[in-house]
Amino acid sequence: MDQALADLIKISRATGVDPTLVQGGGGNTSVKTADGRYMYIKASGTALKDMSARKGWRRMRLDLARSVVKDKSIAQMETQKRELAVVDRLLLACDDNVKTDARPSVEAHLHAWLDKCVIHLHPSAAGAFANAKKGRAKLERLFKAEDPPLLWVPYTDPGYMLAKRIARLVEGYQSQFGKRPGILFLEKHGLFITAKTAGGALRLVRKVIGRCNSKLKQPKKVKPKPIGRRKIDEAKACIEQAYSQGTGEQAKIWYYYNNAIEQFLHNRDAKKMLVGSLTPDELVYANGPAMWVDKCDAQSIAKRLRNQIDSGGKPAVAFLVKGVGLFAAGTRKIAPTVRDIVLYSIFIRTNAHRMGGILTLNKRQEDFINNWEAEAFRKKLASGAS
Ligand SMILES: [Zn+2]
Repeated sequence: MDQALADLIKISRATGVDPTLVQGGGGNTSVKTADGRYMYIKASGTALKDMSARKGWRRMRLDLARSVVKDKSIAQMETQKRELAVVDRLLLACDDNVKTDARPSVEAHLHAWLDKCVIHLHPSAAGAFANAKKGRAKLERLFKAEDPPLLWVPYTDPGYMLAKRIARLVEGYQSQFGKRPGILFLEKHGLFITAKTAGGALRLVRKVIGRCNSKLKQPKKVKPKPIGRRKIDEAKACIEQAYSQGTGEQAKIWYYYNNAIEQFLHNRDAKKMLVGSLTPDELVYANGPAMWVDKCDAQSIAKRLRNQIDSGGKPAVAFLVKGVGLFAAGTRKIAPTVRDIVLYSIFIRTNAHRMGGILTLNKRQEDFINNWEAEAFRKKLASGAS
């Protein structure tokens, strides 16, 4: 096996098994070969932890992956067409013996511009800063001893535009500091860590996450007070009825409760914090933030769901019911992902709020995500469709 592939599997599994690093199946990894001709990269739709010598990756020609960003004919295309063309071009850049229709990560062209070993994650510890109004200033202080310094990437639509922006920023960074950046924080998105070696990249991930966490408020590790069965059943029936009335679709409703959820429900500002989508992931996998429910009234919840649909958005699939807990609408496979996204979201929101305000996607940015073919494809794979 090529050393680069062995390294890719190593960094993917090591990060993929850590629930504090990977949420909602987000994240991708790549390693470039020693001769600089190829890049092994995670395949879209495979979880990092499930990567093996047999599956979960593609090998791409580095020159072809890079050229996507520099291609003028692609740059001139209209958004929808352009993103489809990029996905095709990335697939064409694959040069391996993989027989499945696995596509390379939708962020492959971005990876191509970074250092040898790349780990991209959406960890909540990074998100707390990437989604905070004062996040950039705080990070620059927190990592001021870093040489070369961290690179902050202002929010950019994912896909082609982001790859293009990263390529430009990295080129500028290189001419200023003589090397590529090791730590990149992407506003309202996540974290990129790059290094020359697999071990170096993994160490840097742990260092960055550890340092971020040292400034963040963690949920207290205390057992939550039990909630009565009847209260839960009543709220569940209410959400089920509201969901079918509001969306016209039947869905199974799942109940979740733990210390983090209990503590969030007791936060005075909980309702205020649940406005706007934090990241493309939260929008794609959970249709935005959980809906805050003060009192379970099926009619009014149904009305709020209809309003969300009427205003061009997607109806909430998660509901935080005061004094009861979290309810998620969806299949057995999807519901735990929604739960994980909500846990990740309330951690980020609580911390960004404490830092002086939460940064969320604006309407135009949300519309872009909702129309992005590649995200729909990723979601379809994650939901188990072939
Ligand atoms: Zn990402």
